[in-house]
Amino acid sequence: MAIDYAPLIPPAGLPPMLVNLYSDTQTKPTAGMKAAMMEAEVGDEQFGLDPTTNALADRMAKMMGKEAALFLPSGTMCNQIAILTHCRPGDEILAHETAHILTSEGGGVAALTGAQITGLRGAKGLFDGDTLRAALRSKNRNAPPQTLVEVEQTANSGGGVVWPQAQLDEVAAIAHEAGMATHMDGARLMNAVVASGVPVTEMVKSYDSLWLDFTKGLGTPIGAVLCGSHDFIGTAWRWKQRLGGAMRQSGIIAAACHYALDHNIDRLADDHVNARALVRGLAQLPGIVPEDANTNLVFFDCSATGMTASALATKARLRGLAMSTSGKYRVRACTHLDVSAADIDTALAILREVLA
Ligand SMILES: *Cc1c(COP(=O)(O)O)cnc(C)c1O
Repeated sequence: MAIDYAPLIPPAGLPPMLVNLYSDTQTKPTAGMKAAMMEAEVGDEQFGLDPTTNALADRMAKMMGKEAALFLPSGTMCNQIAILTHCRPGDEILAHETAHILTSEGGGVAALTGAQITGLRGAKGLFDGDTLRAALRSKNRNAPPQTLVEVEQTANSGGGVVWPQAQLDEVAAIAHEAGMATHMDGARLMNAVVASGVPVTEMVKSYDSLWLDFTKGLGTPIGAVLCGSHDFIGTAWRWKQRLGGAMRQSGIIAAACHYALDHNIDRLADDHVNARALVRGLAQLPGIVPEDANTNLVFFDCSATGMTASALATKARLRGLAMSTSGKYRVRACTHLDVSAADIDTALAILREVLA
């Protein structure tokens, strides 16, 4: 069966992009990052001989307060390998109904692990302890074994919302009490850390596994790191090998991740400032109702403009502003390291023209 890839490929012949708020994945490696990549010491990663990758895994394990870590090409592979490691076919995973593992990983959890995900409700991509408790099943042979609770920090579709620490810990305590493991999708974990001021070890301490994406706000071209116990990472390594995620001279890309840890974390605060400026500007535009700016993801409703989100995004793109859509009348705009404060003014000026 043919698969329609069209929405993911920009049509040819578009005018030049002036401001790219489409995604924080669209950053280009900086000169400093590329220089670090050029100088990386490398070896054969599959055999544990790539010193730069080994150092990254050690560094990340320490940074997160976990026993071990594993370098992988993408966040999706981190989620899929974590779930393959935690769960068996027929298991049930509890996650928010808008979770990336449920909506955006090609059905990978069903296809690879053979587990089912039950989506929990809750405002802004978060769920609370009562909602989790209500989803727990009695353990009998009719019920699917419930083995994993998953949270997203920050909650992407929820608006880049940061889970309050007490809520993260409460959810994990309920999961553990019920005999379930806990997994954190930390695609934008460092945005949550920078926005909240909660130390990262504290933020992840009640989660058995977690990963950080380097290709979102941290600005590398490739790479994510999955963290957990020695045993967990040992099994995860076998899945990495099986799925073809074991690499060779991966130090070339791990060096970019080291560079990002050294240079690109504190500056996430700038992205949050720019996101707030964008929201303030959007609130002045006719027919636009922005959601709160929590971190670097800005969502706004455009139903009162009479345009759908995709019509509005297309008109904006024809004037040089790229944004993505998240529902019929919900537009998403991301700030990141290739977006300056001046770019926010340009973006708002373009939107003013589109709405005039
Ligand atoms: C981007 C993203 C992922 C997947 O990461 P990739 O590196 O794109 O594979 C998973 N979860 C969330 C919340 C994300 O935003």
